[in-house]
Amino acid sequence: MLKIDNLHASVEDKTILQGINLEVKAGEVHAIMGPNGSGKSTLASVIAGKEEYEVTKGNIEFNGEDIDELAAEERAHKGVFLSFQYPVEIPGVSVTNFMKTAINETRKAKGLEDMPAKDMLKLIREKSELLEIDRKFLSRSLNEGFSGGEKKRNEIFQMAMLEPKLAILDETDSGLDIDALRIVANGVNKLKSKDNAVVVITHYQRLLDHIVPDFVHVLYNGKIVKSGTKELAHELEEKGYDWIKEEVNA
Ligand code: ADP
Ligand code: MG
Ligand code: MG
Repeated sequence: MLKIDNLHASVEDKTILQGINLEVKAGEVHAIMGPNGSGKSTLASVIAGKEEYEVTKGNIEFNGEDIDELAAEERAHKGVFLSFQYPVEIPGVSVTNFMKTAINETRKAKGLEDMPAKDMLKLIREKSELLEIDRKFLSRSLNEGFSGGEKKRNEIFQMAMLEPKLAILDETDSGLDIDALRIVANGVNKLKSKDNAVVVITHYQRLLDHIVPDFVHVLYNGKIVKSGTKELAHELEEKGYDWIKEEVNA
């Protein structure tokens, strides 16, 4: 599904990613860990196509197609979802209305007409029940006065509604409390299938107790310096990153 080959990327003329190789297949969950400032969020942004980031070398393939020249919006329409893509507060626009717009925009890009209101309501009902989101929440103004947990709930709901092929969740937020963690983990576990893939970026091993990854990668200085299974996450929790840095710098 996702094939990243020797990816180099810079922001404001500063090289951040220095040769990333990563392959993610449908049905897989990958975790990306690594010390602060190693380039994890940059990688997520580059895959999603955020404008500030420039690919200087290498390639990003998504379902067999080169996507690194496409705008973020086009990638989203192809099924790439990055959490926190819409962190804005929109007073007066409810969670439901925002979701309707997002769905219909995606359909429009594919040359489809708006989803019939009846189908839309059914979809909203289905997904909100799956994720145990109550009706009151759906009528709240987007992100206005949302708690950390509510922001997460909204993000996961967006993901559920848009049914992305590849979901990238960048969980950098140090305010990820137990409640928010549970919301993210439950959501991912309920939404994952053999047809989609999830990349979870996290500092926290404890998130990976709930979302069990098939692969764990350590990003350091803009490179993936180690890959393994979930055991690697436990090892990192126990020993920190110093041993990895020593291995790399040896
Ligand atoms: P991580 O998510 O692993 O903590 P980041 O990808 O956020 O790391 O950052 C990697 C490096 O890139 C840092 O040195 C950071 O300061 C720099 N960086 C990331 N985004 C930007 C940006 N938009 N402008 C300037 N520097 C950036
Ligand atoms: Mg980050
Ligand atoms: Mg290319």
